[in-house]
Amino acid sequence: MEKSLRKWQIAFFGDKSIVDSEKAVTIFDTTLRDGEQTPGVSFTLEQKIKIAHQLSDIGVDVIEAGFPASSDVEFETVKKICEEGIRPKICGLARSVKSDVDRCIEAGVDMVHVFIPTSEIQRTHTIKKSHAEVLEITREIISYTRSKCSLVMFSPMDATRTDPKELIEVCRVADEAGATIINLPDTVGICTPSMMKPLVEMVRKNVKCRIDVHCHNDFGLAVANTIAAVEGGADQVQVTINGIGERAGNADIAQTVMIMESIYKIKTNIITERLVETSRLVSRFAQIPVLPIQPVVGENAFSHESGIHSHGVMANPGTFEPGIMTPEMVGHRRRLKLGKHVGKHAVKQMLMDANINPKDSELDIIVAKVKEVSGRGKKVTESDLYEIADSITGTGSQEKAVVLDDISIFTGNHAIPTASVRAIVNGRNLICSKTGDGPVDAAMKALLGIAPGNVLLKSYQVEAISGGSDALGCVTIEVEDDRGRIFDASASNSDIVIASAEAMVNALNVVYRTGSL
Ligand SMILES: [Zn+2]
Repeated sequence: MEKSLRKWQIAFFGDKSIVDSEKAVTIFDTTLRDGEQTPGVSFTLEQKIKIAHQLSDIGVDVIEAGFPASSDVEFETVKKICEEGIRPKICGLARSVKSDVDRCIEAGVDMVHVFIPTSEIQRTHTIKKSHAEVLEITREIISYTRSKCSLVMFSPMDATRTDPKELIEVCRVADEAGATIINLPDTVGICTPSMMKPLVEMVRKNVKCRIDVHCHNDFGLAVANTIAAVEGGADQVQVTINGIGERAGNADIAQTVMIMESIYKIKTNIITERLVETSRLVSRFAQIPVLPIQPVVGENAFSHESGIHSHGVMANPGTFEPGIMTPEMVGHRRRLKLGKHVGKHAVKQMLMDANINPKDSELDIIVAKVKEVSGRGKKVTESDLYEIADSITGTGSQEKAVVLDDISIFTGNHAIPTASVRAIVNGRNLICSKTGDGPVDAAMKALLGIAPGNVLLKSYQVEAISGGSDALGCVTIEVEDDRGRIFDASASNSDIVIASAEAMVNALNVVYRTGSL
């Protein structure tokens, strides 16, 4: 797969690389600053510290922790993050005024990020300054900041709408005054990749310091523009987790990093295997769900439903996936629909993921059974597959991690629905009681209460298998583990609450079997 991609690149660009593949690009994450400016998002101090540690753990080079001069709370937050003593450089944002820079220094940051509006529209309508005045302010504030801090980033705000001649002048002034890196922000997201590349090349020719880029996603081009900036010679890129940020957000870290690592072979320090987990953490804290079709980290990024695609992927995953980016590389898992077209290869792979290694003859029977069940129109979940495999190989059933001992539900039109469960979890007797919005909700919460880790109920579906009030209810659920991976399970019972509880127990056992808990 990699070879064919390379062939294609050579056909288009000749034998020289699009970018120097020896090049390393550093990652500047602004989830805690621009990301927190997402409408409706407000992280608690504890969440911010957790995110900072996560960013550090996955290899981010610089963390923009906040804007210390904006409020006392923000100042304290940035200070606390600095005191954590984590590996990445901590950056604070400052307007081009000394008191803002001083607040950053007092908070203890490693890098100060100074910005000033430079486009005519922003200059005249926000700070009411001429270009000449902006040059003077820049010279003064950058040399002041540099005298206080060894790392100084300068941003000509709205760079992509700034007169190119004026942009070069202000960048030169900042460079000469001691800026260690110049950031080119596409503040309102109006640039295109074919404009971004020459823009970076032009600034690069005129300054000695490193170049960084900050792209907004108003037209959905944030990642494309960021990559174009790297093609133009940018040394650092600004990203956020899940692309959160002002308005339509910023460039997404997972997409930006995977394009660089997989397509361009540009090294970053990111531990890509933790991208999905990081995406889920920030999604939970920001309360912004990740779309199933979100590239790289979305639930469907490596799911195959159609027969032709599933077939191809079973023969060779590279047929209908990029190949140069695998689910393992980003901490995801491939999900295949277990339908009547399922192949031996796919079933074997799914069983191996759960440490089930059937003999070849057993595998044939398992595959036949899956086809037979799905041929009857029934969805075969992962837990159903493991059940089938266990019954044929004679393993696993006696070693279930979670065994439901007892469940009792209390409900009524004037009562708060309450569920109490007693279960054996890895040999330990555990009990849990929870209230909920109805008996099913209470039962689910009580069962999740006995599961270690942070498992969430992702989806819940119920259907009646036959008619009448004694109909058999079939419940299919999906749960998400704390690494963001999805598992499904189902159960049937004439009592819908019991069916739901059994489906949850089955789901928890699937999570245990694949080594997630
Ligand atoms: Zn921004």
